[in-house]
Amino acid sequence: AYDILIVGAGHGGAQAAMQLRQTGFDGSIAIIGDEKDPPYERPPLSKEYMAGEKPFDRILIRPRAFWEERDVDLLLGRRVRKVDPVGKIVGIGEDELIGYGKLIWAAGGSPRPLTCPGGTARGIHAIRRRADVDAIRESLAPVRHVVVIGGGYIGLEAAAVLTKLGRKVTLLEAQPRVLARVAGEELSRFYEAEHRAHGVDLRTDATVESIEEQGGVARAVILTDGTRIEADLFIVGIGIVPETGPLIAAGATGGNGVDVDAYCRTSLPDIYAIGDCACHANPFARGETIRLESVQNANDQARVAVQHIIGHPVEYDVVPWFWSNQYDLKLQTVGLSAGHDRTIVRGSPESRSFSILYLLGGKVIALDCVNAVKDYVQGKAHILSGAILDQEQLADPARPLKEVEL
Ligand code: FAD
Repeated sequence: AYDILIVGAGHGGAQAAMQLRQTGFDGSIAIIGDEKDPPYERPPLSKEYMAGEKPFDRILIRPRAFWEERDVDLLLGRRVRKVDPVGKIVGIGEDELIGYGKLIWAAGGSPRPLTCPGGTARGIHAIRRRADVDAIRESLAPVRHVVVIGGGYIGLEAAAVLTKLGRKVTLLEAQPRVLARVAGEELSRFYEAEHRAHGVDLRTDATVESIEEQGGVARAVILTDGTRIEADLFIVGIGIVPETGPLIAAGATGGNGVDVDAYCRTSLPDIYAIGDCACHANPFARGETIRLESVQNANDQARVAVQHIIGHPVEYDVVPWFWSNQYDLKLQTVGLSAGHDRTIVRGSPESRSFSILYLLGGKVIALDCVNAVKDYVQGKAHILSGAILDQEQLADPARPLKEVEL
């Protein structure tokens, strides 16, 4: 048995092991992961790695030798199928059992599949793992036209990369605007215009009815209004399904992921959950229970779980942040904008350097900053302070955010 067993060799799992060793924890640690590679960064999968600008070894979270040096066992290519919270054992495959003292569940999520007819045809790719992007890159040479289904960050980033690689891209979004789940309308409209200016055929209110296949290979997408769009490659980025099956089967409470408290404890004894799969009451969502899909959240929850394990508990209370790179645009977001009652655009989108401030009851709750690093850095203090600031000053890009007064 391991003192600490971590399931999931992704951002959260790697960070948990690193944090444990950093705090001087000298018990045994293992990370079980169902991919074959040591922990690597997922964000470059739809950015530099997909573009061929960074080789795989440069997106490893730590060099391969690191894990052995820190005495962390990597049990790769193995998938946990069962958790026995009473016997404190996990089951891998049919007969491999591994015991634990504490279990940290950091299994992330799997891409939400297309459920329409033809949705499982060959030539339809998700972007979640290295293997997904390797498969896309391997089949790319003869490809001229790509259909991207889903106008979230991953779909938009993929569209930007494929456009840069000289492919014709059609992007289909079922909602009336892209990024509808995560950003305000101003930001959506800005990115829609940018993609169109780069030649992407971006269509909103476009719902996929079916995929037409030929010999098992996807050939065209049919929309509910009857439109038929042929393509050589299809990419689906319509969200994830949290990986929590074995925990829920073992009796953990959950629904949208697995429920955790402010210390990342699940309802099962000695089992923590962190990262994309962990549903938690977030102070920056005004206590609402949510899952966050970001590197920040995975890393910070890893730290919170570890602090609790080593007997120095701190509650999870970190301002969420996130980034996205598309073309030469660097978006940085801080805070959570859901529920805002007002937006302020700071600077002009035409200048391609601006910020959108999201307010609730006069307080700044989030910022989306496009090529505006200073606003991103200085805006965070306003989210934390909760002060009601002068809105004219907030809107004035000539005035640094940190100098805005009450
Ligand atoms: P993961 O990193 O997904 O790791 C989970 C691991 O567990 C996976 O390797 C999975 O295969 C494995 N696993 C699952 N089930 C089992 C099981 N039963 N047994 C064993 N192993 C299992 N975030 C940002 O902040 N900024 C970005 O720009 C950004 N871009 C992204 C681009 C892409 C293409 C993707 C896919 C994600 C992006 N994200 C970004 C999100 C970020 O990568 C995730 O939030 C983060 O990886 C979550 O970490 P995690 O540890 O919860 O899960």
